[in-house]
Amino acid sequence: MVFAYYNRLSASRRRTYRKSDTLRSLPLPPNVSPAEVLARLALALKHDRRMETQSACQELIDQLARGYAVPPIRVSVLAARPSNDYGELHGYYEPLEENKLAHISVWMRTAQRKQVVAFKTFLRTLIHELCHHLDYELFLLPETFHTEGFYKRESSLANALLEQMTPPEAVGKAAENMSARAEALELARRLSRTTRP
Ligand SMILES: [Zn+2]
Repeated sequence: MVFAYYNRLSASRRRTYRKSDTLRSLPLPPNVSPAEVLARLALALKHDRRMETQSACQELIDQLARGYAVPPIRVSVLAARPSNDYGELHGYYEPLEENKLAHISVWMRTAQRKQVVAFKTFLRTLIHELCHHLDYELFLLPETFHTEGFYKRESSLANALLEQMTPPEAVGKAAENMSARAEALELARRLSRTTRP
């Protein structure tokens, strides 16, 4: 499925769009262990601490940029989201320029009710902006489009990060379930062997 604006693009921009659309997943890079910084980010956001939120975001983005071997990005966390007639701005990405690092801005509070943004929404916005950077610096696309593939990459990386945050008890439960399932499977296998003529 392509979005409606595809039809208004030139032939070369359509090629970029289609390339973007075919890249459907974005796994966590190897050698990245973001659990601790994610926990710190969630806590700082919950307690409405802007500077701590910003430094946690910067650390997370530094880890990911190193992991994907792309140029670093500066992250700014700002207070309330600006709004205009088009709606609220969640985040903003400015690509790398000659003497200037690429820059991500994200907002901590909603424009309307000035409430702190929910953690998952906030993380998704941050990863959305990182995905624009990766379009240029990792996938070497000449332009970064919002395609279905783009949103899939965003979701797959955001979900991979959220999985890293699974509380230890849940990991224990999952392991228990897993070994229970493995035992059940082994039993079924043995039974199938013994009942075979
Ligand atoms: Zn975007």
